Amino acid sequence: MRMVIDGAEFARRGNRASGSVMVADLSRVAEYLANSAGMLDCVVQGACSDEGGRHLELHLTIGGELQLCCQRCLEAMRFPLRLDKRLWLVTPGAEWPEEMVEDEGFDVIEASGEMVVGSLIEDEILLALPISPRHEICGIPRKKESKQDASPFAVLRKLKID
Ligand SMILES: [Zn+2]
Repeated sequence: MRMVIDGAEFARRGNRASGSVMVADLSRVAEYLANSAGMLDCVVQGACSDEGGRHLELHLTIGGELQLCCQRCLEAMRFPLRLDKRLWLVTPGAEWPEEMVEDEGFDVIEASGEMVVGSLIEDEILLALPISPRHEICGIPRKKESKQDASPFAVLRKLKID
C-alpha cells in the first residue's frame, strides 16, 4: 500500500485497491506500540455519488491488530483494529461542506493528485488509538529479559534502529 493515487480521479472512476500493510512500516504509529508485529488488511475504495462528480469520496477499511503499550504495566496489550472510514474529498479551491460533514460523520480532506494511501491509512489509525490504553486487568509481570538482550550488540542494534 505504498501506492500514490490521484484522489479525485480514483474516486471518480470508482477504483479499488487492497493490500497488506506491515505494522512495522507505520512509522508515526510506532511510538504508541509495544512492538510492531503483525500486518493490517487495508482496502481503499473510490466512490462518486453524484453525476456532476462533486461528491467524491474514499472509503477506507482497515482491519488487524496492534500491540499497544499498556500505560499501567507497560506490557503489550492487544488492540483489535476495525476501521471503516469515509473521507470526503474536496478539490482544491472548492467550498468545504461543513454542515453535511457534521451530519454524516465524514472526514473532509483536500484531494490532491498525489495522495499516499499508506499515509491516509496511518492518519486514520492515529485518530483511532486510545489516549491511555490499559489492560482491564494487568497480568503478572513477565520474567526479566534474558541476559542476551543486554549484550553490547543489542545496544548497537537499538542505536541503529533509532
Ligand atoms: Zn497492563
